[in-house]
Amino acid sequence: MVKIQLQHDKSHATTKKSYGTLKRYLYIFNSPTMPNSIKKPWYLYSVLTNRCPRCRQGRIFKSQEAYKFKTNVDMHERCPVCNQPTEIEVGFYYGTGYVSYALSVAFLVSTFIAWKVLIGMTFSIDDNRIFYWMGTAFVLLFIMQPLIMRLSRSLWLSWFVKYDPNWKEHPIEEPERIVPEQMNNW
Ligand SMILES: [Zn+2]
Repeated sequence: MVKIQLQHDKSHATTKKSYGTLKRYLYIFNSPTMPNSIKKPWYLYSVLTNRCPRCRQGRIFKSQEAYKFKTNVDMHERCPVCNQPTEIEVGFYYGTGYVSYALSVAFLVSTFIAWKVLIGMTFSIDDNRIFYWMGTAFVLLFIMQPLIMRLSRSLWLSWFVKYDPNWKEHPIEEPERIVPEQMNNW
């Protein structure tokens, strides 16, 4: 009887703990700003969740739904938290084409290696497994396009705007080469 009781407590504790972590993660993911308890948000985390690179808190996209195709790449003109402009040059996001291309290639290469290791494939004429990889990888790549587009913009902006832990005190570097009528219009 005692033994059963102990086991029960133990499993209960585990469930409670993992639920806590999940809940915290979801809270951070959904909150418009990073909670204060997180002192220095990670670079990777801020890029993956499409945050402004200067404060790593504000979201750069207006909508959080990557699969709403009308609005999924609409960006705030300025970071809602630190006021950093998100378009710092005319046609700034042209370069993201290269980034999404590189991300797509990286995805294909890594799935190719994973497929070869986990499922196996040869280039023999009787072995169709390479075509199964191709089919799966290209379908997945197609489905992931909206996510890749958003990630490319986050990455691109993060390479030009530096993280500033004291963004509250420092003035913003205003972009010089900007034509307001042409913003988000290309
Ligand atoms: Zn910001």
